[in-house]
Amino acid sequence: MHRILSRELGAGKVLVGEELVEPYARDESGLGAFLPECVVLAGSREEVSLVLRLAAEHRVPVTPRGLGTGMTGGALAVNGGIVLSTERMSRILEIDRDDMIAVVEPGVVLGHFQDVVESQGLFYPPDPASLAMCSIGGNVAENAGGPRAFKYGVTREYVLGLEVALMGGELLRMGRRTVKGVTGYDVVAAFVGSEGTFGVTTEVTVKLIPLPQGVATMLGVFRTMGDAGEAISAILHRGFRPRALELLDRMAIDHVRPKALYRFPEWAEAVALVELDGDPEGLEASMLRCAAACEEKGAVEVLVAKDEKERRQIWQARRIVSSSLRDAHPSKIAEDICVPRGRIPEMLRRATRIGDKYDLPVATYGHAGDGNLHVNILVDEDRRRPSVMARVENALAELFRDTLELRGTLSGEHGIGLAKKKYMPLEQPPPLIEWQKRLKRLWDPMDLLNPGKIFP
Ligand SMILES: Cc1cc2nc3c(=O)[nH]c(=O)nc-3n(C[C@H](O)[C@H](O)[C@H](O)COP(=O)(O)OP(=O)(O)OC[C@H]3O[C@@H](n4cnc5c(N)ncnc54)[C@H](O)[C@@H]3O)c2cc1C
Repeated sequence: MHRILSRELGAGKVLVGEELVEPYARDESGLGAFLPECVVLAGSREEVSLVLRLAAEHRVPVTPRGLGTGMTGGALAVNGGIVLSTERMSRILEIDRDDMIAVVEPGVVLGHFQDVVESQGLFYPPDPASLAMCSIGGNVAENAGGPRAFKYGVTREYVLGLEVALMGGELLRMGRRTVKGVTGYDVVAAFVGSEGTFGVTTEVTVKLIPLPQGVATMLGVFRTMGDAGEAISAILHRGFRPRALELLDRMAIDHVRPKALYRFPEWAEAVALVELDGDPEGLEASMLRCAAACEEKGAVEVLVAKDEKERRQIWQARRIVSSSLRDAHPSKIAEDICVPRGRIPEMLRRATRIGDKYDLPVATYGHAGDGNLHVNILVDEDRRRPSVMARVENALAELFRDTLELRGTLSGEHGIGLAKKKYMPLEQPPPLIEWQKRLKRLWDPMDLLNPGKIFP
């Protein structure tokens, strides 16, 4: 296949050989390496379309790939074949300030896009913590969210239109440039979050909103998780809608402490990060009311950022949680369960209990505003040992069962991919899974596009 592709596209666009394809064989899921036969570095919609036409003709599987930061193995070529990378399709095609929309190629790095948009007084809120290294095409495929999702929603809320290439090579435009629009089925919404199994995104039209003129950030440090939970409820009950409402448990705090710019007290059992945005006038008073709510509920330390430097210090601690956990343990399984907000304290208790039961350290942090918790199971032993593997598997199964018992969902933002497909039947009944498979077959009858994902 790679010879045909090289002939049609030019050799520089097709990588062959273990050394060259290896960087495209992994993602951030930690599921290992899956070597494809070749990697295509597509530079245009026409090239994406050509690859999908040739692959269909030759019955070769294709795995779309953005920048490989996915946490559930979605970009892994489990059946070999072609990895189709859109990293070179990285142009911002249009920013229209009057229409308040932008049109981008899928390989644009999210953080770069946000910087450009904000320099024009506009705002694109979806903010996965990986924003400096993930692509908008990957965000669309995973329907990515982040801390700001509580106030502003996730990627789906901002995608107005898409151009996709279907298996076989057909290019299809869908959606609109207007904020409202109900013509026909909402096919765009179906493609967002389809984890690269329906088509390959070649262009994205997104909605922009005005850039909030003021931002205020604070950190509350608590002696118990219960106090932190009550403080968060109090803030919400007083009518605030923070743009970020993040929570860290003791294990997460202990891991960031050595590298954090903010000096977390030794006794800290829970930390809440609260960020408001909006009109600068009145923002400080609002922030002080949130701080007062934290103090009333037992916060022992409250730090309201006085300037941008202190804001960055507060966020630095939140941003290094994932890497601090990874650096301290040979293996970490990062889950992203989501429970109704009122069940967060109970879910946190259950996560700790599961860790104790299976003798595995568990660190939990995440988005308290929307109940999306990153439960990290930390493994210090050799994960390949059957006894360790069994403990991890049992702990995960129990975590998911507890999540569902509390009426939550398996994934709040990372998707199902390869990592969680075997747990799908825990949450969804067989007929619903079957209908989704039918939907998949509609767009990709030969099951050649990103096969082996989502469904057990
Ligand atoms: C440190 C860290 C923090 C993270 N934080 C968050 C977070 O806060 N919130 C969150 O939601 N996620 C988070 N993630 C996960 C990840 O960054 C997101 O899922 C992101 O959207 C993936 O983008 P990517 O370009 O890296 O995609 P990839 O990993 O390359 O691919 C992900 C999926 O998208 C598909 N895909 C990629 N490009 C296309 C395309 N053009 N057309 C069709 N399908 C395509 C792939 O087939 C795959 O199924 C984090 C990851 C890391 C490593």
